[in-house]
Amino acid sequence: MKNPVKKLVGGARRAVYLVPRRPEFAQFEITNRCNLNCAMCPRTKFYKVKIADMPYEVYEQALNKLLPLRLATLTGWGEPLLHKRLYDMIRLARARGVPSVAITTNGVLLNDEHIENLLESGLTALRVSVDDLAEPGGAETAGHGGGAEIMNKVARLLERRKGASPQVALAVTISPENRADVFRLIDRAAGIGMDMVALMRLNDRFDESLKRYTFEEERQVCAEYESHAARAGIKIGTPRQMFDGIRSLLYRGGEKCPVTYDSVYVTTEGKITPCCALPKLVMGDILTQDIADIWNSEKFKRFRRDQRKVCAHCDLLDKRYKAR
Ligand code: SF4
Ligand code: SF4
Repeated sequence: MKNPVKKLVGGARRAVYLVPRRPEFAQFEITNRCNLNCAMCPRTKFYKVKIADMPYEVYEQALNKLLPLRLATLTGWGEPLLHKRLYDMIRLARARGVPSVAITTNGVLLNDEHIENLLESGLTALRVSVDDLAEPGGAETAGHGGGAEIMNKVARLLERRKGASPQVALAVTISPENRADVFRLIDRAAGIGMDMVALMRLNDRFDESLKRYTFEEERQVCAEYESHAARAGIKIGTPRQMFDGIRSLLYRGGEKCPVTYDSVYVTTEGKITPCCALPKLVMGDILTQDIADIWNSEKFKRFRRDQRKVCAHCDLLDKRYKAR
C-alpha cells in the first residue's frame, strides 16, 4: 500500500481496530507433523492437535475461497518441508496472484533439492528458526538447537539465490538460555547475507519449567541485540520494538491483538480459527462456508469484542505479561 492517503486511512483503521471486510492474510497449517520435538513446542503437549497433513485438495479449495490475499503463509505448527506437495502449493498461490508466499522451517531437512525447489517455486519469504549455534547433537535446549550446521545450509541457499527473492530471515526465540548465542547468531546471519533477524518471545504457558525473561529483562536484552544488529549491518525485529514503537499506538493502544486484525488461521481440516495459538476456537469451515460470512459472523465479532478474556492465557503479544 504505497499511496500515502491509503496508508494514512489504513493506519487510522488499525488504530481504532476497524477490521477490513475480509482477511488479507492467511496462515495455512499444511502439516503439523514435525521432524523435531522441541521442549517449547505446544503442538502436541498443549494444543493436542490431531497430527495430519492438509490434503492438497483442501488447500486448493481453501485458497480459492480466501482469495484475494496479500500474504499466504504455508506454515502452522509443524515442518512444511515434510509436506510432499509443498512446492505445488507455493506455485498455486503465486499462480492465483498472491504476491507474498512465506514458509518457516527449522532447516534440518534443507538439502540441495529443497534449496533448488525453494528458489524456483516463487516463494517470496523464507524464515529459518534457529536458537543457538551449537553443533548437531549438542546441548539440549528448549527450542531449535544445532544451529551451526543449519546456518551453513542457509549460506548455501543464499549463495545460489539470484536477486532478492525469497527474502531470507532468521527467527530466534530468545530466553536466558541462549543470551550469548543470539549475539553470535546475529553476526553469522549478517555474515552470510541474510536479510533480517526476527527475535521472538518464548511461549511458556504450557510448561512452567521453561525459563524466560521478565518483561524488564526482555526490554534490556532486546535493546542490546538491536544495537548489536545495527553494528553488524542487519535489520532486526524484536518484541521491544513492538511495544515501544508505533504499534503501541495501534489496535486501540494495544488492547487488541494485531494478529486478529486482518488474518485467519486455516487448520489441516479447513477450519478457520483466529490464530495459531487458538487452534480449537473454530469460527467456521472454509470448505462449506464463505470467508466473508465466517469473518463477519456473530461468533467472530464476539471474539473480537471479548478478546482480552478469550486470550487471557496468551502473553505472546502482551506488554503486561508477568513472568513467574
Ligand atoms: S520445529 Fe517448530 S513445530 Fe517442530 S517441534 Fe520445534 S517448535 Fe514445534
Ligand atoms: S493474543 Fe495470543 S491467542 Fe489471542 S489472538 Fe493474539 S496471538 Fe492469538
